[in-house]
Amino acid sequence: MDSKDQIKEYISIVDVAALYVSLKPAGKYYKALCPFHSEKTPSFFVYPEKNSFSCYGCNRFGDIFALVQEMENIGFVEAMHFLAEKFNIPLQKTSFKSVKKDDYLQINELALNFFKENLFASEEGKGALAYLKNRGLQKATLEQFSLGYAPNDWDGLSSHLKKKGVSQEKALELGLLIKNDNNRVYDRFRGRVIFPIFSETGTILAFGGRTVFADAASAANTPKPAKYLNSPDTPIYKKGHHLFGFHLSKNAMKEEKAGILVEGYLDMISLYQAGIRHVAASLGTALTEKQVHLLNRFCAAIYIFYDRDAAGETATIRNIEKMFEQNVNPRIVVIEGAKDPDEYVRSKGAKAMREILDRTEDGFKFLLNKAAREFKLQDPAQKRKGLDMVLQAIGKMSDPIIRDDYLQRTGSFFKVAPELLHLELQPQKEPENGSQPLKISLMEEKFLETLLRAPEIVPEIKEFFNEDLLAILAIRNIIHWLFASVERFGEIRLPEINKHLSAAEKARLHDIFSQKTQTAKERSEIEKDVVISIGNFQKKLLTSKTRQINQEIAVAEREHNEARVAQLMKQKNEFMKTISRRSREEHFEKEN
Ligand SMILES: [Zn+2]
Repeated sequence: MDSKDQIKEYISIVDVAALYVSLKPAGKYYKALCPFHSEKTPSFFVYPEKNSFSCYGCNRFGDIFALVQEMENIGFVEAMHFLAEKFNIPLQKTSFKSVKKDDYLQINELALNFFKENLFASEEGKGALAYLKNRGLQKATLEQFSLGYAPNDWDGLSSHLKKKGVSQEKALELGLLIKNDNNRVYDRFRGRVIFPIFSETGTILAFGGRTVFADAASAANTPKPAKYLNSPDTPIYKKGHHLFGFHLSKNAMKEEKAGILVEGYLDMISLYQAGIRHVAASLGTALTEKQVHLLNRFCAAIYIFYDRDAAGETATIRNIEKMFEQNVNPRIVVIEGAKDPDEYVRSKGAKAMREILDRTEDGFKFLLNKAAREFKLQDPAQKRKGLDMVLQAIGKMSDPIIRDDYLQRTGSFFKVAPELLHLELQPQKEPENGSQPLKISLMEEKFLETLLRAPEIVPEIKEFFNEDLLAILAIRNIIHWLFASVERFGEIRLPEINKHLSAAEKARLHDIFSQKTQTAKERSEIEKDVVISIGNFQKKLLTSKTRQINQEIAVAEREHNEARVAQLMKQKNEFMKTISRRSREEHFEKEN
């Protein structure tokens, strides 16, 4: 057995998927919000029996390796390493070639260990340790978060990496080292406490550093270093794609069904240390869709807990808007008597913190209250500004039902007719063509369900679905590709079919697929269902054709084209005969 099979045998797709999403059992399989694309209802399915996954929203599918490769953005060999390490499966290292991505991770590992050693075992690190202790952090916490220290040297890390035989080019690409205009290479992080940034699965991606020399520098009249410094974007790290501490807190988020979003490293670490473990930090920059998506996958409720100053409030509003874009209404944590989460939990403790979490208001209410605080709503011009602020946020929502509800609430809050507010939002947010739900009749739905249940009947019924018949069906495209899949693969391969469908068609097909009842049906029953469906479709076709002929007759009559009228009347009579014959047959069938 080769390594691939060995890994595949040991590791269940369920455990691998659980690294990235919160799975809910659904019969024989599991479902979750897709880790690859943003969505409101789960279309990411995990099949333990086949040890595979499939998403009906974005068409991605595959085995444990495919999932890891895509999520970690790595190659196959690295995915094998990753899984072997995560699930403690011994592999023979020699069976793998060294891979580029692996090198980056190994260099980051080396840097991480260098920083850790400098914090705990160097003379200079003592100052940094004192700083962290002063911020209330315990030794166990420092270890948990793998905190470190970068010595105040130009070539501390660079000479260390050199000794280890690391390629300078790669260390530069990782942003650990910097090259200046004179081609001199030096350490990026100097004299800083290091906060390592891990991926959601605990791979070391990047570093953040807080200076411990800011105060000393200003006293000595030298240029003040930036308080915080982070790794730049690198081949393995993109700003805004990750959350600080998330690899430690995501399971707590699953358990609590909620996650708290804070701004800074120390906010995150302090709350975590105090036992409020469902927390992650956004790392200063504006919150991104990726980050909201990340949280959304693990928690049902998101709390925003930012600093209690003007900048924190502005960032909170921006984050509410960002979450509205994904139809998430966050809850907003508002505290008194402390300037930020770190200070609050250190001075008041975890119990007070939990009580605060029970008394939060939702993001939408927060917006309304802020408008009322900031603008004098009795004054029409001010009211306009307050309204604009709220409407801007509501305008980001794509879900029309939620939007409507918020507009109603906004109307009664500002005492404005909701119809007016609807009009305001209309021009910018017309639903796109592709996102209109596909309207299909019950008849068509039933037929699709039968097809999904018994694809083996496709060869027998295929000939009935000529162009004329398909043209009158809303599901024509779905049927066409369903048939094509059965013809090509001998089975229905949804990921293959999905490639050719519009978003609306995919959604509909997936709905029907997931609602499909599990109870087995007799072959004869299935055949009967199909015959009835086809009969119904043909009747619909005839009716539609008759209507079309009637229109053509009307035109021909207006043009006094007698010959054409006669010809069309003949056609019509034939159609009518067919329809009445069918009705009689049906009547006869029912009687018996
Ligand atoms: Zn997806």
